[in-house]
Amino acid sequence: MERFLLPFLLTTLLFGCVSGQKSGRQLFNHYLEYKEPSVINRRFKHSDLVAFLQKKEGTLDIQKAGQSVEGRDIYKVTIGNGPVKVLLWSQMHGDEPTATMAIMDILNFFSTSDKFDAFRKRIKKRLTLVFIPMLNPDGAEKFQRRNAMDFDLNRDAARVQMPEAYLLKSTQHELSPEWGFNLHDQSRYYSAGHTGKLATISFLAPAFNYEKDINEGRANAMKLIGILSNALEQFIPGQIAKYNDDFEPRAFGDNIQKWGTNTILIESGGEKGDREKQRIRQLNFVTLLTAFEAIANRVYENTTVTKYESLPFNRGNAFHDLLIRQVFIPKGKDWVISDIAFRLKEKHLSSACKNFYLEGSIADIGDLSTYYGYEELDARGLYCFKGKPAPKSIKTEEQFLNLNVTNLWKEGITDLMVSDKVYKKYIHQKLPFALMRGDKPGDYQLLIGKNPGLYLKNKERIAYVVINAHLYEVPKSKITVRNWLQNNN
Ligand SMILES: [Zn+2]
Repeated sequence: MERFLLPFLLTTLLFGCVSGQKSGRQLFNHYLEYKEPSVINRRFKHSDLVAFLQKKEGTLDIQKAGQSVEGRDIYKVTIGNGPVKVLLWSQMHGDEPTATMAIMDILNFFSTSDKFDAFRKRIKKRLTLVFIPMLNPDGAEKFQRRNAMDFDLNRDAARVQMPEAYLLKSTQHELSPEWGFNLHDQSRYYSAGHTGKLATISFLAPAFNYEKDINEGRANAMKLIGILSNALEQFIPGQIAKYNDDFEPRAFGDNIQKWGTNTILIESGGEKGDREKQRIRQLNFVTLLTAFEAIANRVYENTTVTKYESLPFNRGNAFHDLLIRQVFIPKGKDWVISDIAFRLKEKHLSSACKNFYLEGSIADIGDLSTYYGYEELDARGLYCFKGKPAPKSIKTEEQFLNLNVTNLWKEGITDLMVSDKVYKKYIHQKLPFALMRGDKPGDYQLLIGKNPGLYLKNKERIAYVVINAHLYEVPKSKITVRNWLQNNN
């Protein structure tokens, strides 16, 4: 008896009394069983997607749907054969790959058999899901927003001159889906309104005219977003926002809404400790599967747009990577209180655009009390000084690795003049000092755009240093560069 009853009970428990929250938790908890292991950071390429899809051949309906400007194949994957059609497209901006990773996980989810079988069966029976993962493979190759001709595909929905845009528009017209999911990444510096929380996921039911009218389709999209927000809140409380709802006549979301598909924009933003967006990928997985379930059960019909309307709007550029609050900075012979904000930029390490290093700079200075930091320091009572260069230059790697970080920091030394060889070998790593060489002198000004080493002192001693937009507490015991690198890279 147990053998038959248990799956039935489980299914009923998981999905019978659907609240979205409960099934969201179940999907979240079992996520690792479906996570595609061949892709574990954002800079994967078209070839990685192709290799993944080749593994799925035979288990999923995969077709070539078209080609990019540079001739890369763009694929269409279909799941289910139900009456309600759902079209999903990801990465029309090449450097916005989070949802593509989640789609791979979802394809893994649908090509297995396990305790979620009843869930899968229901979705496949009621829905026809059509995925277009990585609509802009040429952009992904260079990890850039635009396609190979530098067109922003999301501004080509009206003229439709690019093959990638044509593919999306013609797929929408042929399929005429009831639902559409427009999957993007947004800046990791957006906050959810003025709450001081990151906008980790932002939604939008795009407008289809300048008046932002709400017809039945747009209202349905708003209702479904309400359900998805409720399901996500348990994982990212307060970190859900609404994208700018101004009508953009050249964008796809807005037009697809106009063409009669209930369209939902999902933007993956930032999350602390998740630069590679692997947790946000997991949230995308949960969000989309929750959406399929809600569409299949038509539960959105029993809800209102109130939840959607209550979501705070994105607030642009509200976050910085590091925010030092209320520190004294020198003003002639006097002091003033200032906040100092640093940002980190990702710089490609090679033309293959697979790897990157982080380059910091001061993004803002002054009263930044309305801004927030991924990392923050309440520096009241501390005095900020520009770091000093070490008196002697470093000739060999051995000399460099044996340096006593603790002692140098205690003296306020943040910059080292090093040999060419040491510079080249270490410059792109996370380091306890800013490296200089003959043609690259240090950056000493406490001004926007500069990247000075800093030290923060209280009455007795130097308590912190800032190197390349990272804040470090001066340790009590001796640490060499060698130890430091082992602990920090
Ligand atoms: Zn985008």
